Amino acid sequence: MLKVSGKAVYKGIVIGPVLVFGKEDQKIKRTKITDADAEISRVGKAGEQAQAQLQGLYDKALKEVGESSAAIFEVHQMMLEDEDYLEAIHNMIRTEMVNAEYAVAVTGDNFAELFSGMEDDYMRARAADIKDISNRLVRNLMGKEDINSADMKPSVIVADDLSPSETVQMDKEKILALVTVHGSANSHTAILARMMNIPALIGVPIDLNEIHTGMTAVVDGLKGEVIFEPSEEVCAETEARVRGEQEKLKLLQSLKGKENETLSGKKIKIYANIGSVSDVGYVMENDAGGIGLFRSEFLYLGRDDFPTEEEQFQAYKQVAQTMGSKNVVIRTLDIGADKQVDYFNLGKEDNPAMGYRAIRICLKQPDIFKTQLRALFRAAVYGNLSVMYPMITSVEEVKQIQDIVAEVTAELEEKEIPYKKPEQGIMIETPAAVMVSDELAEIVDFFSIGTNDLTQYTLAVDRQNARLDDFYYPHHKAILRMIKMVADNAHKCGKWVGICGELGADLELTEEFLRMGIDELSVAPSMVLKVRKVVRESEV
Ligand code: PEP
Ligand code: MG
Repeated sequence: MLKVSGKAVYKGIVIGPVLVFGKEDQKIKRTKITDADAEISRVGKAGEQAQAQLQGLYDKALKEVGESSAAIFEVHQMMLEDEDYLEAIHNMIRTEMVNAEYAVAVTGDNFAELFSGMEDDYMRARAADIKDISNRLVRNLMGKEDINSADMKPSVIVADDLSPSETVQMDKEKILALVTVHGSANSHTAILARMMNIPALIGVPIDLNEIHTGMTAVVDGLKGEVIFEPSEEVCAETEARVRGEQEKLKLLQSLKGKENETLSGKKIKIYANIGSVSDVGYVMENDAGGIGLFRSEFLYLGRDDFPTEEEQFQAYKQVAQTMGSKNVVIRTLDIGADKQVDYFNLGKEDNPAMGYRAIRICLKQPDIFKTQLRALFRAAVYGNLSVMYPMITSVEEVKQIQDIVAEVTAELEEKEIPYKKPEQGIMIETPAAVMVSDELAEIVDFFSIGTNDLTQYTLAVDRQNARLDDFYYPHHKAILRMIKMVADNAHKCGKWVGICGELGADLELTEEFLRMGIDELSVAPSMVLKVRKVVRESEV
């Protein structure tokens, strides 16, 4: 039994089998072998397994994101059969008498280097694919499971760290819990874990070489600890606690369909935050009144090229239609900082959180922005959509956005494409936006306060830096005064104001937000009923 503590980002408890998620740059040992034929036959088996995995991924992607995005898995299947590639691996095994893992990894690196030196853009881009299929073969040879495999059992995912694009590609139904050695409590992975309603522990100091796929683990988000290979006694105790938690959840279910109204009759809207179309299920399940933040950038992650206007239109339309008359606030892309996407070619920055991100990219590369706006305005015909813009710092930026919006609507008008200009709001997540919120309130329809970034920028604490978690203190008076100031400025102009950062779900502050007159709280779907409970028990 091995017990290790970490930081809990979602307070659930679960027991289940472990799946160790190997990083792509896994260290591969070179070992001498005696039977080259046996080693080559291992490569063959790993290849067959990879073909089946890729077919599973293709089928899943086809259903979820469409044919053009799924095609990459077909390309990978073809590359796996490439004669030059396979011959190079076999040759190396025979001439150097080395293990299959090593031969595949070195051949993968050699081919990737070859491709990346080519003139042609398409061929250069194939370098990453060669690395990808080689990593897949190595994973199969090492007996490590593929996190995307269609036949994966529901598991506790243990990893060094997870990027947002890795998390977004996982089959959420199959994740019982997340345990990572690194990661900070305010990262997007943590946010996703809360959204998916799964226990998650980060900053867990474990040696991944000692943890194996197939072990049993108890992930206890309430105590902030994970226990590998628990004793029978711990298993029994955990199972009893899991049942207790399920009972509490059942009690919360009785709040479905009830008003978000305090004992003295004050009302507030409780909406949910989502990152993908499939999350709408969680919104419905938890009876949220609407969607207060659809992080649209997740449509751009985990793929090789920009989503087209049509792909985006279909995604936004589906959310709008499913939510019917309920309000859906879609935020335009917030790429940059921790959400890096290769094809944006953003380049390395010393200070990405204060760098080229979000609305800054949109204003500097209006073609990307206009594609998204066209998709949004077309989708607005199908439901009750609002659009909001992230990382605003000034009135001038909003005016530039308004000019681009006017160009987009004029183009749609001219081409007689059906559209609707949705309600236009902005995120208040920089201290600059707070300080000029009186002027901003005059030119937008609503505010949504992003307390995650507002805390980062106000307290000068990088939200991604796990060492600073103790200094990341969103209850700081400075933050609470800013929220009050923004709410007052919005209301003076007759505009509504919500909170969509994680602080909106902080039950210790719900009463304070009610007193400030906040109109809407947008929280992880799993928090909707918990916030409703506090509101309904409040005297405010
Ligand atoms: C925020 O900053 O509070 C927010 C909601 O946006 P994100 O967490 O996606 O940066
Ligand atoms: Mg933000």
